[in-house]
Amino acid sequence: MIRGLIFFVKLAVVVAVAVWLAERPGDVMITWLGYRVDTSMGMMVLAALILGTVSVLLWRLWRNLTRAPREVGRAVRGRRESRGYQALTQGMVSVAAGEPDEARRYAQRANKLLDNPALTHLLSAQAAQLNGEDSDAREHYRAMLDDPETRFLGLRGLFRQAQMDGDLTEALSYVRQARDIRPETPWVLQALCELSLKTGDIDSALEAVTDMQRHGQLNKDVAKRRRGVLLTEKARRANAQGDLNAANDASKRAVELVPDLPAAAAIRAEVRRRYNDWRKAVRVIETAWEKMPHPDLVEPYLRARHADTPASRYRNLSKLTDRNPGHPESERALGRLAMEAESWREAREHLTRAGGDNPSEGICRLMAELEERENGDQEAARQWLIRAADAPPDPAWICESCGAIAASWQVQCSNCDAFDSFAWRTPSRVRDELGQPATYARLEPQVAGSAQPDSGASSGRRAPSVPDAEVEETAQSRPDGAEAPSSPAGGGETRKGEPRTQA
Ligand SMILES: [Zn+2]
Repeated sequence: MIRGLIFFVKLAVVVAVAVWLAERPGDVMITWLGYRVDTSMGMMVLAALILGTVSVLLWRLWRNLTRAPREVGRAVRGRRESRGYQALTQGMVSVAAGEPDEARRYAQRANKLLDNPALTHLLSAQAAQLNGEDSDAREHYRAMLDDPETRFLGLRGLFRQAQMDGDLTEALSYVRQARDIRPETPWVLQALCELSLKTGDIDSALEAVTDMQRHGQLNKDVAKRRRGVLLTEKARRANAQGDLNAANDASKRAVELVPDLPAAAAIRAEVRRRYNDWRKAVRVIETAWEKMPHPDLVEPYLRARHADTPASRYRNLSKLTDRNPGHPESERALGRLAMEAESWREAREHLTRAGGDNPSEGICRLMAELEERENGDQEAARQWLIRAADAPPDPAWICESCGAIAASWQVQCSNCDAFDSFAWRTPSRVRDELGQPATYARLEPQVAGSAQPDSGASSGRRAPSVPDAEVEETAQSRPDGAEAPSSPAGGGETRKGEPRTQA
């Protein structure tokens, strides 16, 4: 509409000019280079217009002809690039979907079409990894180190490769380089903490915990717990290596940070005992027993008191159990040592009190032993053993990450590598198809709240869950009146004063 209007206005102007010229006739004479042209004014204007139009058209034609090769090249490149990016996208999708052949095909195509080595190296590395071609993957990751934009990604890839190969030193060196680039990345700090711990550099692990807290990745309580756990481990290692001073410093701080961790009190007592400071050793365990009586504290206490005969062991233990009289753990420990000392009457009294209305499996077995050793009563012993088979299990150190049961507390699960994952709690019972108690449940790996680095190193070694078995909750009454921790998935619920997991 507007175009039409403009056209008519232009036409009107041209007609008006033509009319104006026609009404005012005149002659033009040009003399140039020996030629002479005589014409009217109107013809002169027309000739000028035609010349101008032809010049413009020629100029445009010339310009298009010279630009054409460049334009064609650009169009071809654009098409190639868009096909390359399409291959790259499809390759990434195949990697995510776990299709090794597709991933490799697209990686090769993207590599051919795109002039962006940074991006294609990443895809090629991941495709190679999916195909199990680790050395190829490593090559691609190494190539990414040259470009500052992809260096961090390359380091992460190399770190994971080294971790899968079990080369801790190499993995640690890549993590350290990654930290130099991005010091606040959570997986970097987490990996730094765990690898340092594994390679025995606990100071570096402690440093990583401080960094995590500073960057808001750990709250104050969790950081305190981790520090306490790491210092406990540091004290244990230093003690084992005979570095008593280091063990002393570390254990002193550990008991302040994690007063509810039996291992911390135990190593503190052991170190003070080695300094011949048996009073302090005894006091540490007694304080811990008041807070949380635990079987792991019994032997360190008796060692500190130099109790070595069965009678003196029983006598000395009562000094500890007086700190928390009547507690099932106190009664149980006394019952066990009374039996060792062959004080049958006391043993029976303590074990009966420890078991209450629903004695645990361990108590039933001790009672069976007592019947046999005290009276030689095979039938009564047999009855207790039958009862033991159906009794609630005893609490144990259970890895809340993989469900493995350990004989003693571990700073890092030897089954799944999880850090500080052991909690002292009652395992669930598993029944087989006939409804008979079979074995302790292996807990499902915890999903929620697991802040482990996406390392992949541990995932391959998770304990299997128990198939086709009915997991039955054990509703053993807790010493503090609370119910037994619930779900086999860990639930994260632990007894008050009990070691907690901050995976
Ligand atoms: Zn574990």
